[in-house]
Amino acid sequence: MSKPYEPIHIYCASCGAPASFDIAGQVYRCSYCGGVTGIQEPLQEKQGFRRAHQARLQEKRREYPLLSAQCTGCGAQVVFPEGEALTGCAFCGRSLVRKEYLGVESFPEVLIPFKVTEDQARANLLAWCDQNRGKGEAREIRQHIDELRGFYLPYELVKGPVSCAVSRQESKTYRCRGFCDGSFVNTSKQLDNLLLDGMEPYDLTSVKEFDFSYLAGQRVKIRDTDEKATAARVGKEIAAHYRPFAAKVMETKGVEVTADTGNMVALGAVLPAYYLRAGNTLAAVNGQTGKVAVRERKDRYLMPWWIKPILGSILFPALVYGAMKLFGAAQEHCLLVAGALAIFLLFVLFTAYHNEYGGLGRQSLPRRIFTSDDSRTMVSPPEFYMPIDGRERAVALKFTTPLRVLRMVLLGLGTVFLPLILGFLFNGCSVHGLTIGGAAVWMCIAVPLAPVFLIKYGRLELYEHPLIYYRTDEGRRKRYRASKRSWKEELKDVLDTVKVFVFSPLVLVILFLLIVLIVNTVLVVHWDAF
Ligand SMILES: [Zn+2]
Ligand SMILES: [Zn+2]
Repeated sequence: MSKPYEPIHIYCASCGAPASFDIAGQVYRCSYCGGVTGIQEPLQEKQGFRRAHQARLQEKRREYPLLSAQCTGCGAQVVFPEGEALTGCAFCGRSLVRKEYLGVESFPEVLIPFKVTEDQARANLLAWCDQNRGKGEAREIRQHIDELRGFYLPYELVKGPVSCAVSRQESKTYRCRGFCDGSFVNTSKQLDNLLLDGMEPYDLTSVKEFDFSYLAGQRVKIRDTDEKATAARVGKEIAAHYRPFAAKVMETKGVEVTADTGNMVALGAVLPAYYLRAGNTLAAVNGQTGKVAVRERKDRYLMPWWIKPILGSILFPALVYGAMKLFGAAQEHCLLVAGALAIFLLFVLFTAYHNEYGGLGRQSLPRRIFTSDDSRTMVSPPEFYMPIDGRERAVALKFTTPLRVLRMVLLGLGTVFLPLILGFLFNGCSVHGLTIGGAAVWMCIAVPLAPVFLIKYGRLELYEHPLIYYRTDEGRRKRYRASKRSWKEELKDVLDTVKVFVFSPLVLVILFLLIVLIVNTVLVVHWDAF
């Protein structure tokens, strides 16, 4: 091995060349000697590196006299070389207690050195303020710009294979796997995670083994999340990386992703950043790239859930009323139909929205993070896996294809117009002499129920039974069919769904109201005719 040891690389166990990960085989493969390195070996190898590194640092520490200051408010601890001036806490504004730094706890294993000077960082932040003149955040930052301070902030650098459990509401769980080629997770209790994410990415190619010489003229914030909290943060952050991919496959933003990060290699890291607390605004500038991130100063709230159903029950009947008026319908008929529709929609939408969001109370949204550019940490897409024929295979999942949706809609239409279709067939495929009257009762029931069924049962059907494709050993793309369920199980499913909807008191009430209204309309129309 001619090149120096890079702690962020994963090396081949047999020849020492950098190895890359094979997701399907779940091992590292060496492109140089073809050797295979297990998932566990790099974990042990990094443990060894960590011990040697800490021993080297303890040895060297005497050459670098360090001081420490701890905040009386937020507890943030900062370490800096002797002779550095330090005023109040940069993270909360309260006062600091100085003491000699005796810390024997571990120093970080790697770091990225500062590249952006304090003047440049200030200029970048002011440039952001110029571009966002209208925002209150820009005003607050200008007032406090002199308080911008540089810190090496504590992170955990993780790299390695990730396995995620992915599910959407009320549906089964799928597994996907990927390889994360290096991601930084912040390990500061006091700092806003989203803000720090906003100033990423950092360029991993300039990661260096940590050494005290980098601290000259700089301050280091000491990590203060314990092992358990750190692991939880890593899991959350990695899951967040994969959520967009999972959301695309599962066709919903409401996708649940839990990441298993147990096989990832982790290194303690410090990253260069400038940090500013300006009133209610928080700002950070990436000390390597100069990217600016600013956190919104006020909370925002989600619209209460009941606004949409009410708006829907007013707007849609109003449209119908307008349309009927336009075609010259009598005033009382327009009112009657619009009124009936409004009552029906109010019930249906209220129930639907209440089931979904009713219990949630007033929901605040995470504060927005404004950034000076859109660059973000790149993650290669994961692959979905399923056990097929006794082996884990990569699969492609398809839920709502146009053909499947069309089938669902045709099924719905078929149900609604069933009596007419049957009549048409029995009538020798002729419309001659058919009257719509006989089908009215059926339609009264089918028309309001069909959309409910389509939404609930149709959607469930689409999402519970996706089309699954995989590659055979010969490399052909093949549709996978799960073992066929018996007709009894299918029937039970259908009956369960019918039971829930037909026998729910709400649907019965709506049906009753609709029938009363329709009978009324018919009577009124007939009465008018006399
Ligand atoms: Zn090798
Ligand atoms: Zn503080």
